[in-house]
Amino acid sequence: METILSIKNLHKRYGYVHAVNNVSLEIQKGNVYGILGPNGSGKSTTLGIVLNVVNKTSGEFSWFDGKMDTHEALKKVGAIIERPNFYPYMTAKENLELVCKIKGINYSKVQEKLELVGLMERKDSKFRTFSLGMKQRLAIASALLNDPEILILDEPTNGLDPQGIHQIRDIIKFIASQGTTILLASHLLDEVEKVCSHVLVLRKGQILYSGRVDGMTANEAFFEVCSDDNLVLKTALENHPSVEKVVEEKGKLLTYVNQDLSASDLNRFLFEKGISLTHLVKKKNSLEEQFLEITKNHPSKN
Ligand code: ADP
Ligand code: MG
Repeated sequence: METILSIKNLHKRYGYVHAVNNVSLEIQKGNVYGILGPNGSGKSTTLGIVLNVVNKTSGEFSWFDGKMDTHEALKKVGAIIERPNFYPYMTAKENLELVCKIKGINYSKVQEKLELVGLMERKDSKFRTFSLGMKQRLAIASALLNDPEILILDEPTNGLDPQGIHQIRDIIKFIASQGTTILLASHLLDEVEKVCSHVLVLRKGQILYSGRVDGMTANEAFFEVCSDDNLVLKTALENHPSVEKVVEEKGKLLTYVNQDLSASDLNRFLFEKGISLTHLVKKKNSLEEQFLEITKNHPSKN
């Protein structure tokens, strides 16, 4: 697995505000990561630090396995962390061509990226005539001009109408399906569930959960299991009537079940099939409820 970004024990203090409190995250190539948390939980600060626009207080982060310095690495990163801003009296095409000129990118990329974000028909319209959703899509096209390894988006759907939100989410999913790694910050649980494969949940700068999105939202318990032969184990698990799905992660099989099944029942079932486990842990996840509770106490200002 290729590591795009590795964050270790990151801290940021603004006076007495501990904006980022011991955050760690490994970003692997090809996944879609969400940083989820209510307003003020430290999402933008975390993104700002790894993009070198905010100074960390302590901790480490490294891009691309530390093979290059941050300045070089950031040339392979496409990021939108502020409201998109282009020249209002220039067209969409002209604005993107200007970006190409500055960054030394071939102009042929302009058409490709305008198509990707569905703005080809409006390429000759002036930026000032664009809706907020179109501006945001143009910003995404711009960030993708140099085919970055990773696209970073801070609250990509904020302020958009439902149709605009839907378009942006579809574009993000499409970009991800093409193999681009994505990191996005959002205060919307629903958005992260729909778009991301992995999530870091923050509250007051601290990690509440880190892992797969399906692990976070599982209503029922799930098991972490391993044996010497996970392939045989997976088949056996999938044949158990209570098992909904089995996801492999870091050599462990995350087994989601649809009804109350005890660890000893599962163990017996597998033992009877001639499988002995090297690892069996039952986990219960009520994070979704916790998250809804948190956001209720910190209403969105947006
Ligand atoms: P989020 O993006 O999750 O809404 P932020 O990272 O913007 O959260 O903010 C985290 C905390 O840090 C908040 O308490 C915020 O008020 C504080 N903060 C952010 N930027 C600054 C700054 N430049 N100066 C002082 N405090 C800041
Ligand atoms: Mg923010």
